[in-house]
Amino acid sequence: MTTSTDGATSTVDAVIIGAGFSGLYMLHRLRDEMGLRARVFETGDGVGGTWYWNRYPGARSDSDSYVYGFTFDRDLWESWEWSERYPESHEVRAYLEHVADRFDLTRDITFGTRVESATFDEDREVWTVTTDAGETVTATYVISAVGALSASNTPPFRGIETFAGPTFHTGEWPHGGVDFTGQHVGMIGSGASAVQATPIIAAQADELTVFQRTANYVVPANNGPVDPDVKAARLEDWAGIRERIQQSNFGFELYLQEKGAAEVSDAEREALLEDYWERGGFHIWLGAYADIFFSTEANDLVRRFLDRKIREKVHDPETAELLIPKDHPFGCKRNPLDSGYFETFNEPHVHLVDVKSNPIAEITRDGLRLADGAEYTFDTLVLATGFDAMTGPLNRIDIRGRGGEPLREKWAEGPRTYLGLMSHGYPNLFTITGPQSPSVLSNMPVSIEQHVDYIGRIIADLRARGATVIEPTKEAEDGWCAYNQEIANATLFPTANTWYMGANIPGKPRVFMPNLDFVGPYRAKCDQIAANGWEGFAIDGAAVPASEHVYTWAVAG
Ligand code: NAP
Repeated sequence: MTTSTDGATSTVDAVIIGAGFSGLYMLHRLRDEMGLRARVFETGDGVGGTWYWNRYPGARSDSDSYVYGFTFDRDLWESWEWSERYPESHEVRAYLEHVADRFDLTRDITFGTRVESATFDEDREVWTVTTDAGETVTATYVISAVGALSASNTPPFRGIETFAGPTFHTGEWPHGGVDFTGQHVGMIGSGASAVQATPIIAAQADELTVFQRTANYVVPANNGPVDPDVKAARLEDWAGIRERIQQSNFGFELYLQEKGAAEVSDAEREALLEDYWERGGFHIWLGAYADIFFSTEANDLVRRFLDRKIREKVHDPETAELLIPKDHPFGCKRNPLDSGYFETFNEPHVHLVDVKSNPIAEITRDGLRLADGAEYTFDTLVLATGFDAMTGPLNRIDIRGRGGEPLREKWAEGPRTYLGLMSHGYPNLFTITGPQSPSVLSNMPVSIEQHVDYIGRIIADLRARGATVIEPTKEAEDGWCAYNQEIANATLFPTANTWYMGANIPGKPRVFMPNLDFVGPYRAKCDQIAANGWEGFAIDGAAVPASEHVYTWAVAG
């Protein structure tokens, strides 16, 4: 056991909150590579983080499997083989269990335990962490590995408690699965989770009605087995793939075209989009035209292509029109990947109901009622209503920094951080892929590894200096917050009502939460900050101002 006990309170160097990708690698880094005493607390009864909870039908990663894992260890890379192009939820869980076994991680993870609070003691310069199991732990460092999409969102529908049948949230799916055979199912939501679940629920249920508030640009996944030669080449190319994804914009081997959609001929654009549509995955989004993120005209050119594809797939013209997004640019709302989603609406027992023009007024005993009084009945309700993203998981913990200030109060108008990594007034509290870091706009494991390595580097440097606390300066943080909004406002992202903007949660401040530096440039920026003596941070009170490069946008091509 790596903890020592001091009366009723145990003491460790670091408490890590969460045992998904982030928490597992952070534990390995701190404990096995740096010799620190670390403990992980995890709400679930096993490892996996978001993949522990998201077991709804069809749940799988939208990242190509060969890059959806750790790259820090070549032997680990070579020890695992994915079965398909995109890994299913249970396979990601199996992978993370494999990682935990390989590095003997579970002996320092306390499962089934939620961290309730973390309070900074200014006199002793330590954190006190409490759990719902009644345990108290003091630690020099607290590292949030809670993920960006782990706080599920159940909208406050009037009457939801009166529904007579079972209700399932995609983000908290029963481990034993749900049998929809013979059922009439109502599903609220049409985001990535709903898009994956729809064809599978439809295949089982007698009737499925999808209540859609916002249509999404859904592009083909093109899932399937990977050519064995391609697999073998990737296994061999560990160093090359690692380097390329670390330097890329999005953590994938996808590169935006030199010319924009509006700069090429119609024929050239059509040919490229057609090719990328056939390849499937995020090519059309993150491997095609950069100007779609800046110019409505360019974005519309790609939208017309996508609109046409939807009309080709969906037989009923009215349903097709409903499934074509009308209110946001392509690529500024996370586009889901499709494995038969649109075609499902050609089936006679599958119905689509628009709840934007005619919102859900209340859930009833037998189904739901819309604002105009229309009633729908079903046996089972599926809530594919997403998450209180990015800030939600942190705000659900009572985190108090200097002066006892609750983090959720500091963040009442939106997250305030430096690099998405730390917040002023909360010394030695690190947020892996926190808000205002590239996080959700990247292939997460790549960003997670970068943050974990960087946090490890910071802590190693502190200890080498004999220093105790690090925190960002207020000036650096104010600068980072302003910079983040400034670069977001240079794009079309803020024009869409998305969870990136907090727009899915009533009352949540409308602030663009991810950082648009993207993976490679953000990594370079972090490295430069370290090389310049931890610019923007104060170590034991000695501050180093952040220089111009921190607030310079250098998005790679
Ligand atoms: P989501 O994208 O936020 O979708 C939630 C859906 O519920 C949306 O259609 C939303 O409509 C609707 N909704 C929310 N509140 C509503 C209300 N009061 N009335 C009617 N409709 C309401 O959530 P998600 O599908 O769970 O996906 C969230 C994110 O998780 C994804 O964007 C992705 O990043 C990640 N994810 C990834 C994968 C993968 O890699 N394969 C799979 C699933 C999820 P609005 O759009 O109008 O808000």
